[in-house]
Amino acid sequence: MGPPGSGKGTQGQRLGEALGLDHIAVGDLLRAEVEAGTDLGHRVAATMASGDLIDDDLIIELIGPLVRAAADRGGFILDGYPRTLTQAVVARQAASQAEVEADIVVWLDVPARQLIDRLVARATDEGRADDNAETVSRRLQVYEEATRPLLDYYQGRGLLATIEASGDPASVTDAILATIDTRRAATGR
Ligand code: ADP
Repeated sequence: MGPPGSGKGTQGQRLGEALGLDHIAVGDLLRAEVEAGTDLGHRVAATMASGDLIDDDLIIELIGPLVRAAADRGGFILDGYPRTLTQAVVARQAASQAEVEADIVVWLDVPARQLIDRLVARATDEGRADDNAETVSRRLQVYEEATRPLLDYYQGRGLLATIEASGDPASVTDAILATIDTRRAATGR
């Protein structure tokens, strides 16, 4: 978890490779639907471009089968979900039905000023439709209002690991892997 620009996608991919787990990135999946012009893509394009969140039901429809398949293969890194308390509660119910348990919630902590710099740079590099100034400020606002409260929720469940994520990608990955190792040693999971 982390605000837009905190490096969720980069770290999710790196961790997936390091740990041999599927990296399920909700934003990437949604962008692929939009680019492919699917029915789902048509339904989400305008909302994504505005920086607001997509309906929960559509997200579940999109990631449900991928999560179930990855769980059967031994685990997954979920990037971009849950983003609201409602999604977190639904995720927990679905996980307990499937007898899957979350091992860790990694929160990438990056100062606000640096987030904006990174997002502006990415707009130039990748040309993402939701990286323009107006949408970026809406995404940061949605993060503050809808997603940040989840930190308390996961802290309360004893799952939260805060990682200082303003350094270069490799050092952030190392810090996350070290935290995972420490937790594994402590919990035996
Ligand atoms: P970022 O977190 O950097 O803003 P993402 O690529 O993770 O970017 O997400 C891009 C957009 O996809 C979000 O602004 C939102 O519109 C949509 N989205 C991604 N994940 C979710 C989710 N769990 N629930 C609702 N909408 C989502």
